[in-house]
Amino acid sequence: MKQHHENQHHVTGSQILIYFSPDFVVDGGFDTISKAGVLADLLVARPIAGTEIVSPAPATRNDIVAVHDEFYVDQVLGGRGGQFSGDDESAASVLATTGGVLRAVETVLETGGCAGSLSSGLHHAKYDHGSGYCTFNGLVIGARKALKLGARRVLILDLDAHCGGGTKELIGLLRDRNIDGIEQVDVSVSSFDQYHNAPFAQLKIVGASEYLSTIEQSLSDIADPQSIDLVIYNAGMDPHEKAGGVTGINTEVIRRREAMVFEWSKSHNLPIVWVLAGGYSGDSFTKRDVAELHRITAEEAARVYAGIATS
Ligand SMILES: [Zn+2]
Repeated sequence: MKQHHENQHHVTGSQILIYFSPDFVVDGGFDTISKAGVLADLLVARPIAGTEIVSPAPATRNDIVAVHDEFYVDQVLGGRGGQFSGDDESAASVLATTGGVLRAVETVLETGGCAGSLSSGLHHAKYDHGSGYCTFNGLVIGARKALKLGARRVLILDLDAHCGGGTKELIGLLRDRNIDGIEQVDVSVSSFDQYHNAPFAQLKIVGASEYLSTIEQSLSDIADPQSIDLVIYNAGMDPHEKAGGVTGINTEVIRRREAMVFEWSKSHNLPIVWVLAGGYSGDSFTKRDVAELHRITAEEAARVYAGIATS
């Protein structure tokens, strides 16, 4: 596995696949299940050189029960559970968005480089219930798939405003079954879904003034980064002062954050998958404004991993 990666990592200027299908979107739904469509429209109207939107095959029940409780999974797939069960399309949506993460993981494990999926609503999902707009934890489902495909060390980097307590729980439950190899680094600006640190899950909650420096330190504290087989980046936009976050984290800070993440990852030749995570519209901040923030992740991914200059 590692040998294969080393042959592939040095490819530069490679295309970044961005997984999206209309099945992701529940029209008229809350931001978590509707904003991907707005962002996909932006990416079609103003394409980012070096990226290509592709439709993923959906996740299967087997993919999901590798991480979550079977009874809960069947409730959701039957339309009777999850965070958006009032929406008829919610089961198809969550299979599609989870599939996007899985296909992105498979792609970068095969070819190296970077891929994205316009999935959100992942990191608060617990073993047997949804939480905080998250139904299934696509981060851990993607990491578990990577281990099955031969990866030995998967880093989940979570920079959503809120803590990834669902991810921490699910990594711990896998470890209880002797499935090791997944770790989390989590920098948040809110205590929602807070958890106790463990050797495999390190959480810091900070304010705006220490935000970028804490992320930089957290990345540089990661031991032996060359041995990481895959990074899964939960690229939440809700730390932004207008998208649900804290005053002082503005668009420029977000762009510097995305640059920092992809430059760190690229400097170690790591395959990386990014997803959308949080980011919320309000009275003076539209879904389109939120989508423009998420677009920054794709732009910085393309600049760093596809060698494309963007404005
Ligand atoms: Zn959040």
